[in-house]
Amino acid sequence: MNVVEKAKEEVVNTARKIIQERLAFGTWGNISYRPVEDRVVITPSGIPYGELQYVDMVVVDLQGRVEDSRWKPSTELPLHLAVYRARHDIKAIVHVHSVYAAAFAIARQEIPVVLEEMAQVLGGKVPVAAYALPGSTDLGERAVNAFGDKGYAILLASHGLVAAGEQLGEALLRCRVVERNARILLYARLLGTPVLLEEKEITTLRDKYIHAYGQERNV
Ligand code: 13P
Ligand code: ZN
Repeated sequence: MNVVEKAKEEVVNTARKIIQERLAFGTWGNISYRPVEDRVVITPSGIPYGELQYVDMVVVDLQGRVEDSRWKPSTELPLHLAVYRARHDIKAIVHVHSVYAAAFAIARQEIPVVLEEMAQVLGGKVPVAAYALPGSTDLGERAVNAFGDKGYAILLASHGLVAAGEQLGEALLRCRVVERNARILLYARLLGTPVLLEEKEITTLRDKYIHAYGQERNV
């Protein structure tokens, strides 16, 4: 099996996980993976995640020309491609409308780092990209600005969460961790004033996670 076919399987498996874990619902959200520099496998637009199959995946090049598909690509293809063009280190993108991250996106508030695991797998807060219509090239540009040179997750104002990484597992883990951090932060606010982790603590946690945590290299 070549790398593009393998990428289709990985995208479908990730799609199943986001629906099972209730990070996504219905047809909202989208996933892509770039197995080689100029090929991107992306979920099709508007097909319920519960029904998605390997053969439904869409293959495009970095200009968005559809190569091999029975379906139209996700309407957020311009956003995914803009991020891939801007950041060569990013090879996987998971976009979800998960509830707690979306609450911050609707309030248009960044998500600060309150959990150590957020410091470990993201290394910083999640900023909000300025509002633009879903599917627009403006949204792609604003997302790229919000990601900057080294960000791994952003909120789309009044919309949802986008997380990225070198592999799909990494992008998915970041969605899970941001969602959990957002949820726990809201609960903590009911108890009083949550204490945010300081920049120096965040840097140390991230560094130790990359270089010393677990058995071998981690995200
Ligand atoms: P697609 O079904 O076209 O991927 O759109 C879902 C979505 O989340 C748009 O932002
Ligand atoms: Zn969306």
